[in-house]
Amino acid sequence: MHRVEIKQPTTLADAVANFRDAGDAMFLSGGMTLVPSMKAHLAAPEVLVDLSRVAELTGITDQGDSLRVGAFTRLVDIERSEVVASAIPMLGKIASIIADRHVRNRGTIGGSIANNDPAADFTAAVLVLGATLVTDRREISADDYFTGLFETELEEDEILVAMVFPKPEAAAYAKHAHPASGYAVGGVCVARFGQGWRVAVTGSGADGVFRIPELETALADKSASQAIAAVDFSALDVVDDAVFPAPFRQAMIKWLAEDALAQIG
Ligand SMILES: Cc1cc2nc3c(=O)[nH]c(=O)nc-3n(C[C@H](O)[C@H](O)[C@H](O)COP(=O)(O)OP(=O)(O)OC[C@H]3O[C@@H](n4cnc5c(N)ncnc54)[C@H](O)[C@@H]3O)c2cc1C
Repeated sequence: MHRVEIKQPTTLADAVANFRDAGDAMFLSGGMTLVPSMKAHLAAPEVLVDLSRVAELTGITDQGDSLRVGAFTRLVDIERSEVVASAIPMLGKIASIIADRHVRNRGTIGGSIANNDPAADFTAAVLVLGATLVTDRREISADDYFTGLFETELEEDEILVAMVFPKPEAAAYAKHAHPASGYAVGGVCVARFGQGWRVAVTGSGADGVFRIPELETALADKSASQAIAAVDFSALDVVDDAVFPAPFRQAMIKWLAEDALAQIG
């Protein structure tokens, strides 16, 4: 790895200023994605702006109708949080199945959502719950935030500060993990808000995480099995590769949706 300067701001304003002053900088949270990328020469910033001392990025707060999770919240803290377990238990369960203890001890939810890996798990939770992404300068709705593979609405110098998750009546996640990496080949999140449903899929989308509006509409007035039967899963725009061809992925999304809906009951 080449030499890199590390800035350690303690406020959001200083973090943005450090980034802009540097010219060629990247934000560093837990480093679980960024450091391996640098080792592989996929990223080569001259300056890393370390976000670990920025107090505005931390904390898990139950806000009544919603749960606010700071971007610099480690996955292990979400996994173990009683506040999360009582407000939106699905989030704790998702954190618990990501990677291994070492990665969860350093990796943050903000790093995962900023990176928008198409095989990440929390992207589906953010989308299914219709979370609001709070940055240092604006609020972005989950439906507008994810713009493609590893692409988001965030500007280069914009810091993800927190995610605000509306509390659903019920929500569940079902995942088919890649046997080697553990990342999602497919993951389906379902959430019920009153009469309305949201369904989000990660791991297989040709453009990253996506919703299934046909299933959401069908669930409003049909049983889970009737709603699943009403959807043409073979029409979903998914990745088609030699290991997991499109027909496999489409069938997998169907049975993951069945699994997630069965968890809600
Ligand atoms: C072995 C291994 C297995 C894994 N398995 C899974 C898995 O099964 N499922 C899954 O979902 N993920 C998995 N991951 C990914 C893991 O969840 C992410 O690496 C981690 O959450 C990223 O967070 P971080 O804090 O380490 O981010 P970093 O690596 O520090 O940063 C990642 C990117 O986000 C940017 N960034 C970070 N924080 C912010 C912020 N607040 N605002 C703006 N930009 C920011 C950085 O500049 C960088 O581009 C795995 C990772 C490893 C190493």
